[in-house]
Amino acid sequence: MGRSKLLTKKRKAFPWKYWGYLFLPIIALGIWTLHFGAAPILVMSGLAAAYMLVQAPTPCGAPKRKASTNAEQLYCRKNAKGLLGGCDIVQHKWANVRLLAARSTWGVFLRNMTSDGKGMAAGVGALASTSSAVIALGTLLFNLSR
Ligand SMILES: [Zn+2]
Repeated sequence: MGRSKLLTKKRKAFPWKYWGYLFLPIIALGIWTLHFGAAPILVMSGLAAAYMLVQAPTPCGAPKRKASTNAEQLYCRKNAKGLLGGCDIVQHKWANVRLLAARSTWGVFLRNMTSDGKGMAAGVGALASTSSAVIALGTLLFNLSR
């Protein structure tokens, strides 16, 4: 993708497609100060994690069909939605889910995602929001059990 195309895209409007990232500083603040309590953190973390998985702008990352058996494996670089989603090519839609379903290909999945700034941000965001969701859930259950 050309740099100019990227810039015009950015200038058009505030990229609301990045809304999920807005939760991260709020969640971080909530955990840091323990001000909101666990339930709102759990809800926000859940939303943020869902956003990273199915809506955040990421590279598609689906393996492309090889030109020949000896050819280097190439991966689709088109824009996609979410860590689990693919681009608009039908065969790519479930490619990442399939990659994750097979444990041996997690490395491939991660490498595809982190080779791009957007994918990296979504990956880190997913990790952060999932762990804060787990922490919040743990705190909530601990409080309930007392
Ligand atoms: Zn694709």
